[in-house]
Order: sequence, then structure tokens, then C-alpha cells
Amino acid sequence: MKIYSCQMHIDQALDELIEKEEVYPIMKAVPEFEKLSTKCTYCKESALYVVANK
Ligand SMILES: [Zn+2]
Repeated sequence: MKIYSCQMHIDQALDELIEKEEVYPIMKAVPEFEKLSTKCTYCKESALYVVANK
């Protein structure tokens, strides 16, 4: 599972992943080339972070 998030929603993304996967999530910056085409899961901002379980 992967959740894309903007600056505002990163806490929400981390909480959601912990709740669903029951592991501590890994947070990475979205690569430059993906930023333009990737939106936050919770709003319409460009995603800055991707949270994943591995
Ligand atoms: Zn957002």
C-alpha cells in the first residue's frame, strides 16, 4: 500500500497506514518527475511525500 500526501496531510497518511497495515510506515519524498502528475490522497495539492509499508 502506498499513500501520496502533501505537506498538510502527512500525519493523516502516516496514521492511516499504521492503522491499516499495523507496521511503522516509511516516508519518502516524491521524486521530482512524479510531483507534477501526483496528487495528495486527501486534497488537490501536489503530493510531496509517499508513505508506504516497505
Ligand atoms: Zn493534502
